[in-house]
Amino acid sequence: MNIHEYQAKRLLKEFGAPVSEGRAVLAANEAEKAAKELPGPLYVVKAQIHAGGRGKGKFKEASAGEGGGVRLAKSPEEAAEFAKQMLGATLVTKQTGAEGKQVGRIYIENGSDIETELYLSALVDRGTGRIAFIASTEGGMNIEEVAEETPEKIITVQIDPATGCMPHHARRIAQALGLKGATAKQCGKLIPTLYKAFVEKDMSLLEINPLIVTKTGDLLVLDAKVGFDPNALFRHENILEMRDKSEEDPMELKASEFDLSYVKLDGNIGCMVNGAGLAMSTMDIIKHYGAEPANFLDVGGGATKEKVTEAFKIITTDPAVKGILVNIFGGIMQCDVIAEGIVAAVKEVGLDDPLVVRLEGTNVEKGKEILANSGLKITPADDLEDAAQKVVKAVQG
Ligand code: GDP
Ligand code: MG
Repeated sequence: MNIHEYQAKRLLKEFGAPVSEGRAVLAANEAEKAAKELPGPLYVVKAQIHAGGRGKGKFKEASAGEGGGVRLAKSPEEAAEFAKQMLGATLVTKQTGAEGKQVGRIYIENGSDIETELYLSALVDRGTGRIAFIASTEGGMNIEEVAEETPEKIITVQIDPATGCMPHHARRIAQALGLKGATAKQCGKLIPTLYKAFVEKDMSLLEINPLIVTKTGDLLVLDAKVGFDPNALFRHENILEMRDKSEEDPMELKASEFDLSYVKLDGNIGCMVNGAGLAMSTMDIIKHYGAEPANFLDVGGGATKEKVTEAFKIITTDPAVKGILVNIFGGIMQCDVIAEGIVAAVKEVGLDDPLVVRLEGTNVEKGKEILANSGLKITPADDLEDAAQKVVKAVQG
């Protein structure tokens, strides 16, 4: 789960990280008052969307005025004007895709005088199973490009969980960032602060791009992107409250409401499977026969008829889907429950695409009977290979 920049900054501030004063606004008429509460004289107006590259982004609507999703204003009035232009408009950045994202919130921040822009992030390094800091002097840029073109300008510092964050970790980062004197000392404080926030809040990613050195030599978190481990959210109610559902994929959102594991993919064969392992092998075998899955969907071990119905609806409402493969191995899950769910869903939403069903396991005969008597156009399959071949053939002709 991701949160907005202003929420991430508020969180980091609670841990003691240096952040400018700012106000989030949802409506244009709140903007001027919010800006006037800040010391000034420079104000930064920032579109809040769950995507980076806002500064260099472009709005689709001419009414959003010149400039991207991060603008500098010289007065509260100008800040309010920018906020008004951006609210409700669609911002397209490198990370949003061509369709862009509608801006529903604006963050007005007290402006800073920048001496240098640096890059700093923390993440879970899957290779080492440790939290790692990544730092670079090339701040404010696309870090993927830096990694591609000048990898020597990026350093990685692994933190051993047994020792936690030590002063030498912070010193290495400060040195790599070229920090000296009082600024380096601030870095010595910032690194363990970020590490603590990362661990305590079960973050999966914390990216500060840029971390800046101000004209007065102070470190400041100028941008912040934070993601959390979804499996740990149950113990962070205050983080769950920050969830902005309007930023999430509508189908993935719907799936999560029904406790379905669903991930949208790029192909055209919709899959409904029980069990994550079976779902992955189903996707593999579709690829093996030369097609691409449209999604990963695991209805889980003990799915009800309602859950199956919802799962099926999610697949059929995806316009990319040109064929559907249902692959169920009934253990705890009973094949007749799946069959009833499919029939109920098709009655509700109709069925235009070829549907191949492979059922095996508990109550399989009952399940097959329900499907056969339903009057629906369903292609039965005997095993996984047969099922995959049939659905790929149906889609590719
Ligand atoms: P992003 O484009 O989505 O990554 O948004 P950022 O928050 O990183 O802002 C983009 C750029 O705007 C930064 O790299 C800075 O160059 C500039 N910027 C942001 N805040 C300030 C500020 O307070 N003062 C100045 N002078 N520039 C800023
Ligand atoms: Mg940034």
